[in-house]
Amino acid sequence: MTAPRFDSAAARRSVLDRISAAAGASGRAPGDVTLVAVSKQQPWEHIAPVLAACQTVFGENRVQEAMERWAERREGLELRLIGPLQTNKAREAIALFDVIETVDRPKLARVLAEEIAKAGKAPRLYVQVNTGEEPQKAGVIPTEADSFVAACRGEYGLIVEGLMCIPPEAEPAGPHFALLAKIAARNGLTKLSMGMSADFETAVRFGATSVRVGSALFGAR
Ligand SMILES: *Cc1c(COP(=O)(O)O)cnc(C)c1O
Repeated sequence: MTAPRFDSAAARRSVLDRISAAAGASGRAPGDVTLVAVSKQQPWEHIAPVLAACQTVFGENRVQEAMERWAERREGLELRLIGPLQTNKAREAIALFDVIETVDRPKLARVLAEEIAKAGKAPRLYVQVNTGEEPQKAGVIPTEADSFVAACRGEYGLIVEGLMCIPPEAEPAGPHFALLAKIAARNGLTKLSMGMSADFETAVRFGATSVRVGSALFGAR
C-alpha cells in the first residue's frame, strides 16, 4: 500500500479559511490578503491540485527552478521571486517574474533598472528588509531601509511597491512584522509581504497584504 498523498487542495482551503478568520478578527477584508503559494522544491503532484483549485499566485526562490517548473505553463499565473537574486540572473528574472520581492542592494537595483529599460517591461518590486539584522540573511538593515528605498526611486528610477521580510526563526515574529509595517508607512508603501506557514495569521494581524505559504499548503519539503 502506498502512503496517503498529501491533500494540498484541502490544505489550501484551510489556509484560506485561516487567512479570512485572521483578517476578519483584525477588521480587514479577506480579499486584502493575497496567498502566495510557495511551490519551491515541491513535487508536481502536490502542486497540480492547488493549481486546479484556481490558485494563481505562486512564489519561487530560485530563477532556474522556477523556469523549469513554470515557463511552459506560465499563462494566467502571477509568479513571484522570493529568494535572493544574483545580478547575472536579473535579465531572466525580469523575463519570468511578475514580482521580485528581494531587492536588497544598490548593485542589484542598478542592474534591475538597466535590464528593465532593455526589456521594456518592469516586474513589481519589493525591497527586502533584514528586520532581525541576521548576518546570514539577505535584506537591507532597518536603519538603511529609508535611504535604500529613496535610492531605488531616485537614483535608479525604480517603482517600489512594498516591503518584504523573513523574521528570525527563534524570535516571536510580531515585532518584526510591526517594524516592517512602520518602515513601509513612513516611506509611503502600502504592500507588505510577510508571514509564512508558521506565522501567517500573525502577519495578517500586523497588516500583511500577501503571505508566502509553502509547507502548510504542499506538505514538508
Ligand atoms: C520557503 C519560503 C517560504 C515558505 O516557507 P514555509 O515555511 O514552507 O511556508 C516563504 N518565504 C520565503 C522567502 C521562503 O524562502
